[in-house]
Order: sequence, then structure tokens, then C-alpha cells
Amino acid sequence: MDSRQFYIDGAWVWPDQRHDFEVINPATEAPAGVISLGQKADVDKAVAAARQAFDGWSRSTVAARLAILQNIRTIYQRRAEELSQAMTAEMGSPISFSRSQQTPSGEAHITTTIEALESFAFQQLSPRGGSEVFAEPVGVAALITPWNWPINQIMAKVMPALATGCTCVLKPSEIAPLSALIFAEIMDEAGVPAGVFNLVNGDGQGVGQLLSCHPGVDLVSFTGSTRAGTAISQAAAPTVKRVTLELGGKSPNLLFADADLEQATRWSVGNCLGNTGQTCDAPTRLLVERPVYDQVLAIAADAAATTAVGDPLTVGDHLGPLVSAVQFAKVQTMIKTGLDEGARLIAGGLGRPTGMAEGYFVKPTVFADVHPQMAISREEIFGPVLCITPVDGEADAIDLANDTPYGLAAYIQTADLVRAGRVARQLRAGLISINGGYPDVDAPFGGFKQSGNGRENGGFGFHDFLDLKTVTVG
Ligand code: NAD
Repeated sequence: MDSRQFYIDGAWVWPDQRHDFEVINPATEAPAGVISLGQKADVDKAVAAARQAFDGWSRSTVAARLAILQNIRTIYQRRAEELSQAMTAEMGSPISFSRSQQTPSGEAHITTTIEALESFAFQQLSPRGGSEVFAEPVGVAALITPWNWPINQIMAKVMPALATGCTCVLKPSEIAPLSALIFAEIMDEAGVPAGVFNLVNGDGQGVGQLLSCHPGVDLVSFTGSTRAGTAISQAAAPTVKRVTLELGGKSPNLLFADADLEQATRWSVGNCLGNTGQTCDAPTRLLVERPVYDQVLAIAADAAATTAVGDPLTVGDHLGPLVSAVQFAKVQTMIKTGLDEGARLIAGGLGRPTGMAEGYFVKPTVFADVHPQMAISREEIFGPVLCITPVDGEADAIDLANDTPYGLAAYIQTADLVRAGRVARQLRAGLISINGGYPDVDAPFGGFKQSGNGRENGGFGFHDFLDLKTVTVG
């Protein structure tokens, strides 16, 4: 495989027209690889291959699909270190984080898909028993993924597509496509039939839009920004495709006065800053009950100031750079906006960390006294920037938590589990975490409101890829 090739119809092929694109290592700002940006002819070829393969794959037995998924897992495990190295190079994920989080998250999707497929009810009677209901694959799926958890997002889509009998064309993020190319090699070696899985690299305006409006595509499963999700939905509307969206977030974290302040605050800061703040469900708005506000600020400032930033190739528990120059500029602009808006900086700030002359590294940053109407409180920053706002009691905390167009996740820190349950029911978000709980790998993952409409993970993730057919005998 040459990284400028695409994987179409079971073979590595050159693009119809050459259009090289450099992948930049964000820690060094030097090229980490070269890919091709696809054009219409490449997309047409991949969609045609997926259409051609659909009849056979959609009728394959569950046993046959399980056997292939098992092969994929075995080869994935063997190539785990290469995947980790690729993600560290393409998006700056520290190597220890790649090995312990990024790569294992992909394997978890294979495992939970296998578990779900072993017992999934593709056929059942209607509740009154008069009709039979079959869950059948939607068809050819276009899978468009972001750069922040590159292999996790790919696996969360490719695995349910395969398991349900869909065929697919994957367009990974052009910013972080190297791990995806290794994954395509894994699919090839695992014996996935030609055309069932195809990969075409490209950018959003090119391959992303071409797939979204393509008459041969039945479904677009997208993870990324709300901006791109809207554009995809509009492009898909004339052909009435199903569009499932996993979008951004600005997730609230409600810290009540009865919580273990030291533990809850350090957890909250760590989970906001992790992956250099580039996680869609990160707890980025910390809402703190006023009686403990000053105590929490002191702990949060210390937690951020003592968070190390360093070379992603060095083993250890530190943050890497942001993914790109674009993302660096965006985060710097948002920090400047916070200062201009009058938020109180208590850690970090503008510029690179001391002693770092190159790479898209930023300072772990905490703002206090963030008013809920400030842009830094309303817009997704997607960098290591925490916003802290005081609240006056439970009702105020819930109101502020829900005062956002997003609804991906919400977090609650309290010693009172009765209160936690009461608050959880009132929060408008798809994922609720109480005292650091993290959703099971086969629990549904997705958002309310403008955070999207899809659900991924395990058997819950199959539904986005299935149509229901009702058969009734007269
Ligand atoms: P992005 O929207 O810029 O790009 C995501 C993907 O969409 C890329 O492959 C890109 O090439 C493609 N794309 C961009 N514009 C497009 C268009 N007009 N038509 C078709 N495709 C297009 O997002 P990003 O910067 O790569 O990722 C960060 C965003 O993803 C954040 O907003 C984050 O919150 C979100 N995200 C959400 C989840 C979730 O599960 N809800 C998970 C991870 C990331």
C-alpha cells in the first residue's frame, strides 16, 4: 500500500487524478505522510463497488459475518502498536494515551459488535403476533469521521455497518487518515469480501459532499462538527438518505457543595483537559455551588497548572499538542475572546507553554467567573480550556446546564445519590455521568438537541444501519 492510494473493491488503487495532500505531525509541524484527496470518479468507483457487493453481503449469514469480525479482531490486536504510532504522528495523541485509550477503544467496538451480533434479533413477531418484522440493512453507507478519536470513530461506524449487512465507503478525516489506512489493510487481510468495505480519502468539500449527495448512497453516518453535520443533511435531503449525526458538545458538570471537592475537582479538570480538550463529550462547563466556589477555584487552578504538556513520543501522562494550525489559531482566539469578555484567567492563557518553540502546544487554561452568555461558555472550543461558573442551588444549576443548544453529555458531582438521580432526570443530554462514571462500552452513545440524532455502540448502534420490513400473510 502507498498512502496515496485508495482501497476500492478489494484492492489498493491509485486515484483517478493525482491530488497529493500532506498530513502534518502537530508536534513537529513537519509532514507525517502524504495522502490523496479523491474526486468524483473515485467516489463513483467506490460507491459502485459497494452497491455491487451489497446483494451478497446483505444475504450473508450471521455466522459468516461473525467469522470475519473475529479475524478483524485478531489482526487488529497484532497491529495495535502500529495504530498507536500512527495516531501519535497524525494527531499528536501522547503515545501512552494512544496505547491505553485510543487504540483499545477501537478494539472494544469490535468486541461489543461481536457480542451483540451473536444474539441480535433480526426477525421478530409484532407485539400482537399478526405480522413478522425483519430488520434489514439500509444499503450502502457512507461513513464520514473526524480526527480527534480517529480509530474509535471509524470502528464505531464500520463495525455495525458490517454486522448488519451494509456495505460501506469510509472517508476518514483528511487531518488524521494514517491510522485509517492501516485499518483498511486489516480489513483486507481479514478477508472482508471485495466491495464490502472501501476507503476514499478526501476533504469535506470534496469527497464528503460527493458522498452526501450521491444517489448510490443510502445512508450517511457522520461524526464531527455541527457545521458539517448541517451541510451533510442538506446535501442528502434531495435523495432522502438516512443521515445519522454525532456532533459537538458543551457539556455541563454540576459540582454540588457536598461532593468530595478535592477528588471531584481534579477529576473534572483532568477530564476537560484530556486528549488536549479535543473530546466531544468533555465536561467543559464546570458549574459550582457558590459556598464552595473559591475552594474549587483554588484546586482547579492548581490541577491545571500542574498538568504537564510534552512530546507525544515520550511515554507518560502528559498532554500533547492540538491537532493542527487551524485548531491552534481557533483555541487562541477563544482564549483571547474569554479575556476580552472579562472572564477571570486563573491558569494558562495565550501562547505556547514555556520553552516550547514549535508544535501546536497550548497551555492548560482555566477561566473563572464565566458568565453563561459569554461566547466561551456557549461555543465549543475543542481545546484544553475549562470555564467555571458559580451557581445558586440545584434549580439554578439545572437551568444553566440545560441552557445550551447542545445535549451530548452532562456530569454530576455530589455525595447525595438521591439528588443525583433527581438531577439526572432533568438534564437534557444523551450521556449522564455521576461521580466520574463512564458509560459502558456497549451502552448507547449520542446526543440530544444539536449534538446529533444517532446512537452508537454495541447492539444499540445497529439500529442506525437497519430498516424494518413488515411481512403479513393474509
Ligand atoms: P469536521 O466537521 O470539520 O470534520 C469531520 C469530518 O467531516 C471530516 O472527515 C471532514 O472532512 C468532513 N467534513 C467537513 N465538512 C464537510 C462537509 N461540508 N460535508 C461532508 N463532510 C465534511 O469536524 P472535526 O474538526 O474533524 O472534528 C471535531 C468535531 O467533531 C467537534 O465538533 C466534535 O465535538 C465532534 N465530535 C463529535 C463526536 C460525537 O460522538 N458526538 C465525537 C467526536 C467528535
